[in-house]
Amino acid sequence: MTNRQSSAFDFDALRPPSPFMGETHRAWRESLRRFVERELVPHVTEWDEAGHVPREAFTKAGAFGLLGASYPEEYGGWSEGYDRFHGIVTSEELARMGAGGVSAALMVHGIGLPPILAIGSDEMKQRIAPPVLRGEMQISLAITEPDAGSDVAAITTRAERSGDCYVINGAKMYITGGMTSHHATTAVRTGGAGAGGISLLLIDLNAKGVTRTPLKKQGWWASDTAAIHFDDVVVPGRDLIGAEGQGFAGIMRNFNSERLGMASGATASARVCIEDAAGWAQQRRTFGQRLADHQVIRHKIAEMAQRVNATTAYLEHCAWRVMGGETPVADLCLLKVQASQTLEFCAREATQIMGGAGYMRGSRVERIYREVRVNAIGGGSEEIMRDLAARQLGL
Ligand SMILES: Cc1cc2nc3c(=O)[nH]c(=O)nc-3n(C[C@H](O)[C@H](O)[C@H](O)COP(=O)(O)OP(=O)(O)OC[C@H]3O[C@@H](n4cnc5c(N)ncnc54)[C@H](O)[C@@H]3O)c2cc1C
Repeated sequence: MTNRQSSAFDFDALRPPSPFMGETHRAWRESLRRFVERELVPHVTEWDEAGHVPREAFTKAGAFGLLGASYPEEYGGWSEGYDRFHGIVTSEELARMGAGGVSAALMVHGIGLPPILAIGSDEMKQRIAPPVLRGEMQISLAITEPDAGSDVAAITTRAERSGDCYVINGAKMYITGGMTSHHATTAVRTGGAGAGGISLLLIDLNAKGVTRTPLKKQGWWASDTAAIHFDDVVVPGRDLIGAEGQGFAGIMRNFNSERLGMASGATASARVCIEDAAGWAQQRRTFGQRLADHQVIRHKIAEMAQRVNATTAYLEHCAWRVMGGETPVADLCLLKVQASQTLEFCAREATQIMGGAGYMRGSRVERIYREVRVNAIGGGSEEIMRDLAARQLGL
């Protein structure tokens, strides 16, 4: 975090007042901020450089209630009084660390667990959800394959029935938490070609026949990413999530909430860029005056704020519609594009304003700059989001 005195460019001051947030959202923000500043912020640079978040951080996040936020009480979570706007607060406070890799590592269950809670058996929910929400067990989501990313319906990892088990052969790619997770909610082909032949299976990543290979990447260093091979891996039939052939629908449902979450985090990361760039511009002097006194720099900061404010309004409007029971697929897709492009613009301008200092490792802006592309590609790339939105709009 910066040591500057509070100003109009502080993270909080930069956030437009929300008509959707009240006392409970403020209280959750305060409480979560204290946890993040005490337990996470002091370590983020070390964890990012090490490419690893220690398990102790997961159990602390579990004990605090971060991992269980929005999940049913019966599995050790808490959802009473937690709405989409508390979810936005959570994304914002994690983004404020300026270390997306730490958030991606800690919160990977946010994509791996929901399909189990939505369509898994009661036995599976009881077995998996409580230890995951306590931070003792980690669960990833494995959909992407070496030859099937955007085109999810083209996956080829095969699950053949053999007695009361499935035998899995195939490969998954770019799996967040894939090196450290105990399980993966995995898309497999149980039927014929296309979306209708896809099912979801809970796969034990320590099972015989599973090989995991770490992948190095541009950003999100604290979050491990893996290529995973399945070679005759035997999975008990009870670990089928939902019914055979229901996998594609389960994956798509998951994507809608992942996209809202990614848009919240990207918008808040863009706000971090303004905070740090504006702070720098008010202190750094060139040609006898503060950077902020040069009109070009002032306009860069104004444009960053303009774009972040517009994106925040769109984000809140989408969240409000989702809370009202709608699934505004086209707008969730366009929101994700809007947020990743806002982040891209702000990360670029903030790095530019900070000059050489913005290029040095260990600062929030430098890390965020390296996280831009994963926001534009992961969870549905910009091209795919626009195309899906256009089709939803009837084109
Ligand atoms: C850091 C990171 C973490 C990830 N974590 C996970 C995870 O936990 N689980 C998981 O399952 N996946 C994960 N992914 C994978 C991610 O979801 C995919 O990378 C993404 O869906 C894109 O697939 P692809 O990389 O195969 O690109 P491709 O599908 O090969 O696309 C390549 C490019 O072509 C464009 N393109 C493709 N089709 C079209 C088209 N019809 N029209 C126009 N343009 C098109 C795309 O937009 C993209 O720009 C992760 C990726 C990254 C980078």
